[in-house]
Amino acid sequence: MLELKDLVKKYEIGTFKQTALDGVSLSFRDHEFVCITGPSGSGKTTLLNMIGGLDRYDAGDLLINDKSTRHFSDTEWDSYRNHAIGFVFQNYNLITHTSVLANVEIGLTLSGLSTQARRERAIEVLDRVGLKDHIYKKPNQLSGGQQQRVAIARALANDPDIILADEPTGAIDSETSRQIMSLIQEIAKDKLVIMVTHDESIAEKYSDRIVALRDGKIVSDTNPIEANGVGTTKLKFKKTAMAFAQALKLSFNNLRTKKFRTAITAFAGSIGIIGIALVLSLANGLSNEIDRLERTTLAEFPIQVEPTAFDLDAARRGTPLERVDDVWDKFPDTEEVYVYEPTFSPFQHTNILTEDYLNHVNKLDPSLVNEITVIDSMEMHMMHEVDATPIMLNQARVNFGPMLGQTDFFEANYDLLTGSIPQDHTELLLVVDEYNRLTLSIMQTFGLNGSLDSVPFDTFLDKSFQVFDHDSFYIRDFDVDDKPIFSVPNESNRATLFNSDDGIGLTISGIARLSDDALGSFLSPGLKYHPSLVDTMREKAQESLYAEAQL
Ligand code: ADP
Ligand code: MG
Repeated sequence: MLELKDLVKKYEIGTFKQTALDGVSLSFRDHEFVCITGPSGSGKTTLLNMIGGLDRYDAGDLLINDKSTRHFSDTEWDSYRNHAIGFVFQNYNLITHTSVLANVEIGLTLSGLSTQARRERAIEVLDRVGLKDHIYKKPNQLSGGQQQRVAIARALANDPDIILADEPTGAIDSETSRQIMSLIQEIAKDKLVIMVTHDESIAEKYSDRIVALRDGKIVSDTNPIEANGVGTTKLKFKKTAMAFAQALKLSFNNLRTKKFRTAITAFAGSIGIIGIALVLSLANGLSNEIDRLERTTLAEFPIQVEPTAFDLDAARRGTPLERVDDVWDKFPDTEEVYVYEPTFSPFQHTNILTEDYLNHVNKLDPSLVNEITVIDSMEMHMMHEVDATPIMLNQARVNFGPMLGQTDFFEANYDLLTGSIPQDHTELLLVVDEYNRLTLSIMQTFGLNGSLDSVPFDTFLDKSFQVFDHDSFYIRDFDVDDKPIFSVPNESNRATLFNSDDGIGLTISGIARLSDDALGSFLSPGLKYHPSLVDTMREKAQESLYAEAQL
């Protein structure tokens, strides 16, 4: 089921090329316990990373189920990693602040199993590794050997065909090592276990086969496979539930790759601040890596606290998310916006941003942050015509908000699908999601009613709006004591107002979508205004104050 052919991996450090694997050919049996040995720097970890699909080879081939992986898509690699492989590492990589049970359940979060089934499965594997009585403890209340058992249980949870272990006994004493090795030996009875160790005595005592590496080459193999001697079991290959399954799984290991950083930040970015906190806490066991990750990657990101947020915790407790990719085409080439009714709402919640909260934010230690910007959205009076009748635009329902001020940041993360990026305050941007979608509620708010599945881009570019400052909008009158009172215009006043010169005309100049390789999602789908619109409205208000004073 697994075969390496002349595999080559080089690392480039500046102008220097380090050959980590120099033409490795190796086949594995379906069930065997293989130890990879060799001195430090001989390429053991690199080999494991190639087999686990954590990193890409430069030449040669890795055959899975007799199929070349040379042209594997990211999705195929995801699927392979998520369903065929379980990883065990020297430093356990457990989440320290949550229970043993939760640590194992996390590996199953995206398996499609119900909460109950996940729990049962996690208890089953914890029982198998002899930890049934410790499931509610935190990892730091366990010994090193017990922690490694938790990591092994986590790797077994998904019932993968292959277990990859990198120096699993490197951090534990020899008596405990023996117990762990017996456990791994037991597991290898019905799985392929590939374990890296520099300890030859362990390899000899427990494994069925020792492959020795030196300078990226195989120098010996105690039990090689003759041609055609390989078993025929097929590796599991299911469609991955979600890319985020991979993000979770990967958070336990290769944080070093750029690709991973992009994946995790895109994920974190798309779910907002709560998600970032959660992703960070998930990887708590790797505090050094996370520090680095924060410094190098997350630090570039604005942390946005928006009026509504996505509650990942609730999502994890609840039913699996809709498998959007199964129903909708991602990044379609069509010139249409599609309509859908979101089903995520149970996980969406509203942040109540109180005065106290804002004071707290404004008092944050300035040495810890680059800049704090509080964007308080301005209540604007916007009208548009629906069926030739001017009506108020419900701004909340179209997610009316500012577009990103920094143009380069916007351009790096969004693709313009049609029209142009707003250049001044009279232009608006329509943002659609990765599937060119907008919610039914947004469509209806735009006045696009009836049974609609898709709306051509041009329909939106034809739409125009009028925005009014308070002075032009409210109708001033005087009460019996001659005190001024203000009232909201009624339907006929609105029509007059709409056709007057008092408003500022706005049009949608372009439609944009989160790009394929975006680092995060920064704009909720809907209508966005150019930042200068707020300034223009302020100036207008200022002018009328001035005019008032002149009277
Ligand atoms: P082992 O696990 O046997 O100690 P590795 O597979 O980690 O060896 O490393 C093999 C060689 O590749 C070493 O010379 C190491 O310095 C180099 N190497 C490994 N990973 C990287 C990397 N990410 N960047 C540059 N060089 C690397
Ligand atoms: Mg190593």
